[in-house]
Amino acid sequence: VEGGITILDEHRPPITQNVPPPQRGPALRICVTGGAGFIGSHLVDKLMSMEEGHTVIVVDNLFTGSKENLAQWFGNPRFEFIRHDVTFPLNLEVDQIYHLACPASPVHYKWNPVKTLKTSFLGTMQMLGLAKRVKARFLLASTSEIYGDPLVHPQAESYWGNVNTLGVRSCYDEGKRAAETLTMDYHRQEGVEIRIARIFNTYGPRMSLSDGRVVSNFVGQAIRGEKLTVQGNGQQSRSFCYVSDMVDGLIKLMNTEGIDGPVNIGNPNEFSILELSAIIRDVVNKNVEIDFVPQTQDDPKQRQPDISRAKAWLGWEPKIQVAEGIKKMATDFRTRIRG
Ligand code: NAD
Ligand code: UDP
Repeated sequence: VEGGITILDEHRPPITQNVPPPQRGPALRICVTGGAGFIGSHLVDKLMSMEEGHTVIVVDNLFTGSKENLAQWFGNPRFEFIRHDVTFPLNLEVDQIYHLACPASPVHYKWNPVKTLKTSFLGTMQMLGLAKRVKARFLLASTSEIYGDPLVHPQAESYWGNVNTLGVRSCYDEGKRAAETLTMDYHRQEGVEIRIARIFNTYGPRMSLSDGRVVSNFVGQAIRGEKLTVQGNGQQSRSFCYVSDMVDGLIKLMNTEGIDGPVNIGNPNEFSILELSAIIRDVVNKNVEIDFVPQTQDDPKQRQPDISRAKAWLGWEPKIQVAEGIKKMATDFRTRIRG
């Protein structure tokens, strides 16, 4: 006691010792922020279809997502949609929170970089505050971008990364790095049960036709008979994970006990962008040509997840090969482009 005021924090025992684990029945109330977006809507489909009979509450401000992605669930009593910006407080009673709300395509996140940072930091803070209040387990959708332009290859979770704090991509990279820190500190300080998924490039049906990411650009261009826009010399690489594999990995990560640290979720099959363009020409339209266009600032030169941890901790690894995934995606894109 100092001047009649009790200083609680110094004497507070670690909260993890005092808080009983929440009661989890088989059917849970699950919040998915960003659930109207690409990965989020596939996650909702899977959660709604699980035999446990989960209730799913989507929280999304529809910045890049759309209600069409969730059309099949409106009217289902186990489904709820809340139009809400995660940078503001929200009260809900839930058991689990998958926190995906954040623009993910470079074109989208660079459009309003200040808002991107606010979404990453304030949005994660609000949702962690909610997780703390209701004792929900919280999963952060982090990203391979936290490794920046990596000097270590492939990237394991132990690598700290190489990010330019001042570049045009840093609103996203640094935003997610801060979100990881906040998540870890809510765990250490407040005893929140957390999971951090470091998601690598993901593709599949429902990607926004105009989101500027490489797979959606190339598939859309190939279907329209346009040249494929390869940025720079096309020697930069990425490793592409099909969305159903990603969703399985996220659900396994959320529901596996004893997780102690971030987990890379991605497909280690690495391709240069030029190799990817050749696969997409092969699968979608052999008659399109390549258009070499300028490189963007701070573009990472190589990226491949080391998924040893996901294999060992979750028993997870991706199943879908890229040519197979592109075929499924092209079917969806054809319908949306040709109407
Ligand atoms: P997306 O743009 O399709 O979905 C993001 C969703 O978040 C959209 O529905 C959007 O409306 C919503 N959103 C954005 N800002 C919001 C806000 N302030 N409040 C409420 N909702 C908001 O992107 P995606 O590809 O589905 O990515 C989902 C998550 O996965 C993101 O957090 C992203 O950083 C992460 N991620 C994705 C990839 C990938 O390759 N797709 C890679 C790494 C990480
Ligand atoms: N890219 C490209 N053409 C495009 C869009 C992207 O060559 O039309 C390249 C881009 O330079 C980068 C890679 O593809 O090297 C992946 O870009 P994307 O925006 O899909 O994802 P991220 O850079 O976030 O991994």
